[in-house]
Amino acid sequence: MPSHASSTIPVTHRIAGIVSVGDELTLGQTLDTNARWVAQRLTDAGLVTIEHVTVPDDLAAQIAAFARLAHTADLIVCTGGLGPTADDLTRGALAGAMGDPLVEDEIALAQIEAFYAARNRVMSAANRAQALRPARGATLANHNGTAPGLHGQIVTREGSRERACDVFCLPGPPRELFPMFDQHVLPRLSLPQGRTVRTRVLHTFGLAESDLAQRLGSLMDRDALGKGRPMVGTTASGGVVSVRLRYEGFATPEAAAAMLDGCESAVRDAAGVYLFGGGADTLASVVLAMLRQANQKLGVVESCTGGLLGGMLTEVPGSSAAFAGGLITYTNVLKTSLAGVPASNFAAGAAGAVSRETAEAMAVGGLRALGVDHALAITGIAGPDGATPSKPVGLVWIARASGGVGLSATPDVDCRAFQLTGDRASVREWAAKTALAMLWQHLAGVPAMKLLRQV
Ligand code: ATP
Repeated sequence: MPSHASSTIPVTHRIAGIVSVGDELTLGQTLDTNARWVAQRLTDAGLVTIEHVTVPDDLAAQIAAFARLAHTADLIVCTGGLGPTADDLTRGALAGAMGDPLVEDEIALAQIEAFYAARNRVMSAANRAQALRPARGATLANHNGTAPGLHGQIVTREGSRERACDVFCLPGPPRELFPMFDQHVLPRLSLPQGRTVRTRVLHTFGLAESDLAQRLGSLMDRDALGKGRPMVGTTASGGVVSVRLRYEGFATPEAAAAMLDGCESAVRDAAGVYLFGGGADTLASVVLAMLRQANQKLGVVESCTGGLLGGMLTEVPGSSAAFAGGLITYTNVLKTSLAGVPASNFAAGAAGAVSRETAEAMAVGGLRALGVDHALAITGIAGPDGATPSKPVGLVWIARASGGVGLSATPDVDCRAFQLTGDRASVREWAAKTALAMLWQHLAGVPAMKLLRQV
């Protein structure tokens, strides 16, 4: 709740604008991931975001952005520039756009003082500035930092008609922004009567975006919303191609949900075995959930990904239930001593480190060394150096070995070569995800379909 009741005009929120503030954003030093997050949240809530504006730490530029957007948007969400230093200008910009002076908010000041006291730290004089707000605005409590958020309204006139635009200013650090958005912005949104917006997202891996679009065919009709049907679109990121479903119209929430169900099953049919999950699922989270259900453990043996695959797995909360750990065998010596790859693989004229033989030996060796049910091994040339005439940059061998923990048992092995493209980071990311997709195919019991960029 705001610590001070702001005087507000009721606003129906249909159209939103997002303002991201900071020199580090306009200079390209920080990627504006806040705007993406806020836009996704607003879309899920049923608003249409018409513009993302990025401004430097410059008062006039920020006031101009607020004032311009307030003519068309019903809601502005601004992030950043609420710190205690001279380059944090958002408070003044909101006050300027509202035509208000800045005043000190007693409750916000007490909250900032309490934040420091609870941490046995002394509050600096500069922090006092963070308790300022536009006279007719309100501060919004921040439980994860010192900068309170702000709410205010910019009122514009078109002839005799007055229109108000709600502005929420939230801190830049994502760990402060995310909870504050959910606590202070979402509950205050007021959507047009009778309008329903529902979204859903499904994820695929292993198909090019264009191939997926071809499979989806008329489901991707750009006029779908106009015809009262859900709209389907695709976005590709790091090898995962996501399918977004959105219904927006005047159907009841139940009818909208039923339409999305129908649309989802058509998308599932079209994407087939390449569809691995939806919503917040990642390849790692889905694979771990399947392993947990089967009461099985996974281990990894990584060369060119150097722990990236293990990192993706341990990013998932609760991963220890199914992920045992891994070996980073970057050198040939460690491939032999830790994973038991025959040293003869590396002799002159032999298959070498980036080969079917070595990938398979790493996976089978990992299975035994780590005592797990499944092992994934990756060995490749991430670049930009290290290529040979027969082994170009981007060549990656990935092996999965399953079962057969006992020394005499024979594991089931799937080993494939991929010719990955892009820079070092892309090759490594794609390789790690491809390894997970190979395990997913095995656990899901689907045919080992060829994955994108498989040679
Ligand atoms: P603080 O109290 O930390 O100064 P602030 O509201 O002034 O909060 P900024 O100084 O603008 O926030 O940003 C602090 C940090 O938050 C940045 O260094 C950056 O790491 C992150 N950040 C800010 N804006 C964005 C953004 N649009 N996208 C991603 N990260 C951001």
